[in-house]
Amino acid sequence: MKVLSVTSEIYPLVKTGGLADVAGALPVALAGQGVEVTSFVPGYPAVTQALTKAKTVRQGPDWRILSGRADGLDLMVFDAPDLFDRDGGPYGKDGADWPDNARRFARFARAAAEVARDGFDLLHAHDWQAALAPVHLALDGGPPSLLTIHNIAFQGRYGRDVLDELALPEGAFSVEGVEYWGDVGFLKGGLSLASAITTVSPTYAKEIRTPEFGMGMEGIINARAHVLHGIVNGIDTEAWNPADDPALVKGFSPRTLARRRANREALDDRFGLQPGGPLFCVISRLTSQKGLDLLAQNVDHLVGLGGRLAVLGSGEPGLEQAFAHAADRHPGRVAIHVGYDEPLSHLMQGGADAILIPSRFEPCGLTQLYGLRYGCVPIVARTGGLADTVVHANDAALRAGVATGIVHAPGDGFALGAAIAEACRLYGTLDWTAMQRAGMRSEVGWEASAAQYAALYRSLV
Ligand code: ADP
Repeated sequence: MKVLSVTSEIYPLVKTGGLADVAGALPVALAGQGVEVTSFVPGYPAVTQALTKAKTVRQGPDWRILSGRADGLDLMVFDAPDLFDRDGGPYGKDGADWPDNARRFARFARAAAEVARDGFDLLHAHDWQAALAPVHLALDGGPPSLLTIHNIAFQGRYGRDVLDELALPEGAFSVEGVEYWGDVGFLKGGLSLASAITTVSPTYAKEIRTPEFGMGMEGIINARAHVLHGIVNGIDTEAWNPADDPALVKGFSPRTLARRRANREALDDRFGLQPGGPLFCVISRLTSQKGLDLLAQNVDHLVGLGGRLAVLGSGEPGLEQAFAHAADRHPGRVAIHVGYDEPLSHLMQGGADAILIPSRFEPCGLTQLYGLRYGCVPIVARTGGLADTVVHANDAALRAGVATGIVHAPGDGFALGAAIAEACRLYGTLDWTAMQRAGMRSEVGWEASAAQYAALYRSLV
């Protein structure tokens, strides 16, 4: 089976979030399932420069499609310099979106649909940037299509005035197509017309059917619920392997958990923390989505229980300040490192005792999966992929030896405080090490999910 995966980001070439990780890892995992995936990506400078063995397979007046390889990935690149050969990010520069994003991604999706008609069995579109490709295939003919939602907060909605630039098929601007409250909705059009829809966890698939999480799309999602599936993301278990991770001071396995101590000492040093008591960590964008304002309210409580806190992240200035003030109040017990630091994030997962993820919503989430793999017990809100991947330490789960973390009600500072207290109570007991070991043994790689994608692809083709 030949699948064209249409994505505006792909790890390691272009990344702003989890979409890139999935788009980069899934083709590799699907190869093991007998599915041949080619990724269709925009010709950003980082992509065209990395491409080797490039061949032009199609051409227009101001664009061409190149086929080649980069970083082990089979790529088709939409090389349209007017649209994509720019300094800056994939969607904008200095915090402002590119003013022609509607045109950029409409042209990209249209080209993807044309390529898919030429020898592909299925088109798999990711997020709003690719969502018009299923619209073209549904209205002008072509293979079946699948649309994956990585975060329904991002919808690609534009005023009707852009319509003429989009070269949409006849009839696309209708209630059954891209029309959305008089505007043009890229994601809305794809959700309406793709053969099937997935999102990145079973719980998020249920949540987006409600007004609380659907962000205005719940009506269309409900209308198409019969073709909606939730498939949880995996992680790269080679890049994230506690037995053999160059960012750790000492590698460890479920049998050698005591070796984590050296990593915790290194972490204490990096953050200027005094030893003693459970070490909680946060590795996150600092935004209200992540519920970290609720954690900021709980810092004194956490320290009062004998805990310590190390925060790595950047984002909303108010949140950065809240944690900086907490660090001032509790020197040696609380510290924040503002910034993005991939190796430090590995050391934190390998050295801290628990990772806090109190998100208000979380389509899938990756840091809880890294935590499981590294024996860093996840303490998470019961939402989206967090609810699907962490087994709460209630008495029955502890007795059965299947608990892997602590799960609390989302959006509730008191519930988070109780979860922190529960962690402090369990810390240092045999139950705690059993949770660490059960987490380290959970399946967090891509195998199971790749098999689900492959089965879904087959059912559509
Ligand atoms: P989201 O995509 O909503 O930001 P995810 O949990 O799905 O959340 O993915 C976040 C990814 O970014 C994880 O790989 C996490 O380790 C990483 N990350 C987030 N903040 C930082 C940081 N400050 N330094 C290093 N890695 C970070």
